[in-house]
Amino acid sequence: MNHVVVVGAGLAGVRSAEALRARGFGGTITLLGEERHRPYDRPPLSKAVLLGDADSSFVDSDLEGMGVEHRAGVSAKGLAEGVVETTEGEMAYDGLVIATGAEPIRLPGEGRQHVLRTLDDALALRAELVHGARVVIIGAGWIGAEVATAAMRAGCAVTVLEAGPAPLAHVVGAEVGAHTIPWYDGIDLRLNTMVGSVDPGGVSLVGGGSLEADVVVTGIGVRPTVEWLAGSDIDLHNGVVTDEHLRASLPNVVAVGDCAAWWSRRFHTRLRVEHWDTALNAPEVAVASLLGDESVYDPVPYFWSEQFGHMVQYAGHHPGARLVRRGDPSAAAPVSRWSVCWLHDDDRLAAVLTVNRPRDLVQGRRLIEAGQRLDPGRLADPEVALRDC
Ligand code: FAD
Repeated sequence: MNHVVVVGAGLAGVRSAEALRARGFGGTITLLGEERHRPYDRPPLSKAVLLGDADSSFVDSDLEGMGVEHRAGVSAKGLAEGVVETTEGEMAYDGLVIATGAEPIRLPGEGRQHVLRTLDDALALRAELVHGARVVIIGAGWIGAEVATAAMRAGCAVTVLEAGPAPLAHVVGAEVGAHTIPWYDGIDLRLNTMVGSVDPGGVSLVGGGSLEADVVVTGIGVRPTVEWLAGSDIDLHNGVVTDEHLRASLPNVVAVGDCAAWWSRRFHTRLRVEHWDTALNAPEVAVASLLGDESVYDPVPYFWSEQFGHMVQYAGHHPGARLVRRGDPSAAAPVSRWSVCWLHDDDRLAAVLTVNRPRDLVQGRRLIEAGQRLDPGRLADPEVALRDC
């Protein structure tokens, strides 16, 4: 293998280039990136950058020193076996890493709507979060909550419109999500409220009614960036379909990060996880597979969010598992500090969500990895350390 092309210069793309060199690959590495910036991390965009505590979040990686040719501003447009079509012509490869990430879903309408995916998005939004601005945020998910945090700190008049019955309901369920409602103190949080379109000067609601706004931010989720692969023979289904080695359906092609839907040996299902930890760690396995090793990508997925002064962390995968509360979140005073767990039928831990309780997260993640059975009674007592349950 002489030439590896990595498409997408986000964290997963950069980590792939690093992993290739770390494994001793001495051939040519070309890193194609649609954006013109140096590669950067996205989590700070909705935190330090939006809050005005930082202006950028560039990844600390010496691409030039590693002999990686980073082609900024060059996009892949199509894929035929052994060749990537780019905005600057065809590029032959021996190995290909697909790391094109995901892109925000927008709502219909002629009005201006911000999304938050890129550094440019973050800087443009930050400039409009000024004292007194009427900010309407569509979606009380991870991004919506973090944008609301920054908008409140900037002194904006903030409204959050959420289609579900509670913030975060679609990811952790309405019962758990409801425990975050008090965090929206001072915000006009409207649940079960669906936006139909973003119009000049505001938004229109499904079922009638409208709201005026100076700034509209749409945070209703992302979809994997794989349209450029549509005409190729590669298997696509909610992203690039891969096996547990992160190998795609074409020879010498692997996929990593937000765009990859891999087979999880641990959870017996296909997972596509749009979180930083996956972009950080999957490339090592993908590159090993590309170079002919048999590594398996089998993590306990992990992510965090910083919202309204709370550190929220989650590890695991809980569909089909039952919820076990560790104490009463509403009684957690003066600082909100609580966890919830999900158990499989056989009492193995499936997932843990913690709020300002990092120890539960660390111990929970280890227990999930170990596949250990727990005592549900002890688990419900927040005074008992998770590892002793
Ligand atoms: P991306 O970071 O999306 O990178 C893909 C790159 O590929 C992009 O630069 C894109 O321009 C480029 N590209 C796309 N198509 C092409 C093409 N055809 N040709 C060339 N280049 C192309 N996760 C957490 O766990 N915790 C957090 O707190 C957290 N906060 C976040 C906050 C924000 C605002 C955002 C946007 C994400 C956050 N995430 C968080 C998620 C995390 O940042 C992503 O999971 C991670 O960035 C995924 O990395 P990636 O390299 O797979 O994709």
